[in-house]
Parts: sequence; structure tokens; C-alpha cells
Amino acid sequence: MAKTKIHCSFCGKGEHEVDFMVNAYEANICDTCIDKVHEMKKEDKQTKNSKYVASLEVKRPKEIKEYLDQYVIGQEDAKKVLSVAVYNHYKRLNHTISSEKDSEEIEIDKSNIIIVGKTGTGKTLLARTVARMLNVPFAIADATVLTEAGYVGEDVETILTRLLQAADYDVEKAEKGIVFIDEIDKIARKSDNPSITRDVSGEGVQQALLKLLEGSIVHVPPQGGRKHPDQKLTAVNTKNILFISAGAFNNIDRIITTRLKSNAIGFKLNKNLDEDVDKENILKYIQPQDIRKFGLIPELVGRFPVLTHLDPLNAPALKRILTEPKNAIVKQYKKLFEMDGVKLKFSSDALDFFVEKAIEYELGARGLRGLIENVMTDLMYETPETDKKEITITQKFAQKEFARFEGKFNSMEK
Ligand code: ADP
Repeated sequence: MAKTKIHCSFCGKGEHEVDFMVNAYEANICDTCIDKVHEMKKEDKQTKNSKYVASLEVKRPKEIKEYLDQYVIGQEDAKKVLSVAVYNHYKRLNHTISSEKDSEEIEIDKSNIIIVGKTGTGKTLLARTVARMLNVPFAIADATVLTEAGYVGEDVETILTRLLQAADYDVEKAEKGIVFIDEIDKIARKSDNPSITRDVSGEGVQQALLKLLEGSIVHVPPQGGRKHPDQKLTAVNTKNILFISAGAFNNIDRIITTRLKSNAIGFKLNKNLDEDVDKENILKYIQPQDIRKFGLIPELVGRFPVLTHLDPLNAPALKRILTEPKNAIVKQYKKLFEMDGVKLKFSSDALDFFVEKAIEYELGARGLRGLIENVMTDLMYETPETDKKEITITQKFAQKEFARFEGKFNSMEK
């Protein structure tokens, strides 16, 4: 029987000298060489990672904001503040690296941020968009699940577990990352007076969070949670980690209004202040003392030197959200129909109708997708069966389809 002469194209060993050989048209590779290539790949990744630590490409604030503009409508203040904070974060990291050998090092403090904005106005979207653009590890954590150590829930250290995971467990990389803590308002103290009874999910958690924000060595369970009690803890220095937190701070408008009014009377800054105040957007006057009054402890507020707000989304903003962002809902539907060879159009008044309903049912930007989805379902069911080349969603069509499922929205909790 004639032996086939297959040799590894890399080491030259014959088919019978190795355990396993992958054959392709003009080349073969044996198991030993596969392992070697795998090793080389791992080493290359590590070199790239250390390069990444040595020097980070700094994106200028304008570049960062332009990127955010592609996905987030409006929210100019918050976008600017975030762009500058992220820019400074990069600069501080590069400075730390270059001044490691420098004895006259000037330490640049980081500027953790708090974003205050009603639900559905783009807090998480901002965070996710920043994450997509960054070349530092980024993790999102939810403050509502945090409790004081020893109680049911997650310890604050698990926030850093996520960051470690985002950094492929490279501690040095994680120590230069950014953490987004959502729903920070949910760990506010329940009353203005420090309570005598234990406040497991409030002040205690704030105290625990402080430890992370203060820039200390924190021992992090790499697998997270308490499910793995035997795991070896990883020491993470939080000194250079940027913390961005966000919350709706429901009813904080009242606190701000009271302060604005008392200032106007007390200091007589402006007798007509009440008229000048933009009552539709009280949040834009937010000050650190307001979030303190809301129930965040002064030490924690002090650790977030940058405070910014999100504007409420009015009808023109909602309409822009439908069409303008890079992945706008309307663009997504057009793409879906294009795949069936159909050109889909939305009339302007149909879009107005969706916006009007989103406002009427207090669904905000988040609800727009649900509305359109319901209106489009039947059409998407029928379209592949027809030979139509162009379809326009008119207001009349939207109204008719919406009427069929209006009950569903009526019964929704507002
Ligand atoms: P929250 O402020 O509650 O975190 P999200 O960021 O999760 O709100 O917003 C919910 C959805 O609404 C987003 O996924 C996005 O589709 C849309 N959205 C909200 N605000 C904006 C905005 N300013 N620009 C574009 N889309 C937005």
C-alpha cells in the first residue's frame, strides 16, 4: 500500500510522526505546530497589552463628543462634561506612566462624575457609548444590588470584579479603567437624619463605596459574589480608576426649587428669579448640596467633584431620536425591509404620531421602539409575501395599527 507523503508545512514532520495533522489545499499543520502558534498568539497579545499600558492614545474632548453625538441626541452639557473627564482620565494615565521615573511628580486628581437625569433620557446610553469608544476597560454596575458586607446582596467589591473581567483579568489594565455605577440614588439615606437602626442598603453601602472611591487597595473576588468562598482575592488599586455614576434622583426637583426660592428671598439676588427659572428643566440648576439633601453622605458627594444633568426629552428631541442616531430605530427598520428588497419610508406626520403617543403614555425614548414594533408587526409578517418595492408608513396607517393594541398601553403602569 502506497504511503501518502503528507508533511507538516511548518516543521516538516511526516504524517506518521505526529498525533494529528490538519490538511489544507497546499499546506498542512501538525498538532505540535498548532500549539506553538497558539503560544505565539498569546505572547503577541501580552506584548500588545503592555504597549497599551505604556502609552494610551489620547482622544481629544472634541473627538469624544463628536463620537457621542452620533448616538446620543441633545444632552450637550453631559456630553461635554463626560468628554472632558474621559480626556483628562487618559492624560492623567499617560502622565502617571511618564512620571513614574520623575521624582518631581505632580499628582493630577481624578474627577469622578455624577450624572442626574430622569429615567429614559440617556444615562445608560451615554455610558455604553463611551465604553464602545474607549481603549481602557469599562464596567457597568448597578447600585441597587449592593449591600453592606455580611448582608444578602452583592458586596461593593464585586463592582471591581466586573472591571477585572473587562480587562481579561489583567490587574494593571483594570487599574486604569472606568466604572459606571447606575442608580446611585437608590442607595441614598432614607431620611435626612442618620438613623439609629441599621440602614443596610443605604448609608452602609455608601460608606463601603467610599473605600473604592478613595483610591485604596481593594481585595476583589475575581469570580465575584459569595458563591465561591474559597477563591483567592486579587488586590486592585483604585487610585486611577475613573468612577462615573448616574441616577434619576426622583423628586430632587423639589429640593432644588426650595433652595432656589430660599436663595432668592434670603439673599435677594434677584426678586424675579422665580420667573427666570426654567421650570421645565429644574435639574439644570442642580448643586452638590441638593444630592446631599437627597441622602448621599457628604464624604461620597465630595468624591464626585463633577456634577452634570440630563435634559428632559421633549417632542422635537424624541423625533430626532427616531431618525438621527447612527443606529436609530427608523434606520434599523429601513435596513430590515431593504433585506426583503423593499424601500421603506416613514412620513413625517407618522413620526409625529409615535412621538405624541410616547409622550401621552409617558413612555419616553425607551417606549418608542415598543410603539413602532407593534405598528410594524403585521406589515413585517405580510411583506415577504408581496412584490411591493416601496412602502410608506403614513400617519393614517400608524393610527389604524395603533388602535388595535392601544388597550395594551392603556393598562400599562405609568
Ligand atoms: P436611562 O437614562 O434610564 O439610563 P437609557 O439610556 O437606558 O435611559 O435610554 C433608554 C433608551 O432610550 C436608549 O437605549 C435609547 O434608545 C433611547 N434614548 C434615551 N435617551 C436618548 C438620547 N438622548 N439620544 C438617543 N437615544 C436616547
